[in-house]
Amino acid sequence: MTRLSFRTRLMIGFALINLLMATIVAISLRASREQATERTVMVLGGLTQVLERSISGMIQRIDLTLLDIAEELEETSLRRTDEPAMRQLLRRHYRHHATIDVLVVADATGRIAFTSGVASEKPVSIADRSYFATLRDNANAGLVLSKPVTGRLTGSRVLIFARRINTPEGRFAGAVFASVRTARFAEMFQSLDLGTEGVASFTDLDLNLIARQPEPPWAGATSGTRILSEAFSQAQKRHPGAGAFRTVGVLDQVDRMMSYRRLEHYPGYLFLGIGTADMLAEWRKEAATMAVLMAVVILATAMASCLLQLGWQRQASATAALDALNKRLLLHARTDALTGCANRRHFLEVLEGERQRALRYDKDFCVLALDLDFFKAVNDRHGHQGGDQVLCCFASVVGNMLRPTDLLGRMGGEEFEILLPETTLPAAAIMAERIRQAVSATRLPLADGQAAMTVSIGVAQWDRDGPDTSETLLRRADTALYAAKGGGRNQVWSDVRLSPVL
Ligand code: GH3
Ligand code: MG
Ligand code: MG
Repeated sequence: MTRLSFRTRLMIGFALINLLMATIVAISLRASREQATERTVMVLGGLTQVLERSISGMIQRIDLTLLDIAEELEETSLRRTDEPAMRQLLRRHYRHHATIDVLVVADATGRIAFTSGVASEKPVSIADRSYFATLRDNANAGLVLSKPVTGRLTGSRVLIFARRINTPEGRFAGAVFASVRTARFAEMFQSLDLGTEGVASFTDLDLNLIARQPEPPWAGATSGTRILSEAFSQAQKRHPGAGAFRTVGVLDQVDRMMSYRRLEHYPGYLFLGIGTADMLAEWRKEAATMAVLMAVVILATAMASCLLQLGWQRQASATAALDALNKRLLLHARTDALTGCANRRHFLEVLEGERQRALRYDKDFCVLALDLDFFKAVNDRHGHQGGDQVLCCFASVVGNMLRPTDLLGRMGGEEFEILLPETTLPAAAIMAERIRQAVSATRLPLADGQAAMTVSIGVAQWDRDGPDTSETLLRRADTALYAAKGGGRNQVWSDVRLSPVL
């Protein structure tokens, strides 16, 4: 598997942290939005119930009044009642009802006989009204309710609540009815605080509007307008009596949370709605705050990531510089400053390593001890600087002849050693001779003329059975070298017989 770079890991970490946070924020916002909706549904449901009770109570009180009047008229007989007494009776009841606009008594023919208000100058008949027909034809009709109609006395949209009046013998004597302006309901709804986009409406069972608050711009037109909503149909299928749904208003296109309740004493529904904008206003503020906080956190983590990245880059380049410095130091610690070959310490370390390896793996190896001949004279002739150039030239000539696994080390002054791993004495002697010849054939052009050089070499093979330490081996090579010097210089000697090898 490929190792991801620090930058990629940082970016993945940054993305994951922010993704995690965004998810948590989204989940909590979603939960608080649901809570806001649930709260609204609960409040709306409660309000709808209270309003329904109050409307039902109102209808019951109207019915009791109608019953009282019907019973009184049954006892006194409608025909024998004089007008002032009748008006007094109606007014007495009317005074107790702020909601009733007019109380009316019609005779058996449907002609309006008495009213609690000013009587019409022309005779008015309600014989054609369906509620009148129902009362006339059915002795046990009870309270009969009309659809919204235009009142013949008041001229405004009204609901009629009517009861039958019997003769003492039980025959149909007429009807008493109360007319209530549909606007009364709208006035009742005004006291509710449903926010800026709230709505309250009262419909019959076919969803024809009876009253609505607020009235739309085309005021008056709402009464009788049919409001259809797919969301309501769905909700009503599940909960016919009362429930909630969300919809866009048919009349004003406002998105609202709606609550509905079927009225107990009237074939209709009550609807209360709160605009979703109002419902979610607090939640939107919370969401906006969260969004700002999220942006701040994203910015902060992005900045932290950049700082981390910068810090890491600086540390990485510092580490790289330190590594390079360490390498250079190590090279310096191992290298002879003048010639560039291994220094004494490094040569001895490698020699010891090779000795251990040869011991472990049963191998042979040799060392050559080299000393430039009459180097003092070279210095005398070409100066110390010329002598240094000759030393560098010598190291270069010899270094180029070695295998990569061999090692040339400067032990001090004009003395060198060569380590030849996996080499026996004869091969080492051949190698030494080649070096000797190459060195003696070398001419180094200097400012004051050509410099020539020769080298004496002592060869020694590591003796496993001796056993040789590094020091004893080097000493034996040195002994051979001094023998070569003694033998007349520019020669290769082996320590074994202390004789020239070639
Ligand atoms: P021999 O053949 O017996 O080895 O004679 P030699 O002159 O080479 O030996 P000797 O030990 O008498 O002299 C070595 C000289 O090498 C003496 C010293 O000035 C010179 N020398 C040692 N180190 C350096 C160096 O780093 N640079 C230079 N230019 N000369 C050096
Ligand atoms: Mg010397
Ligand atoms: Mg010398």
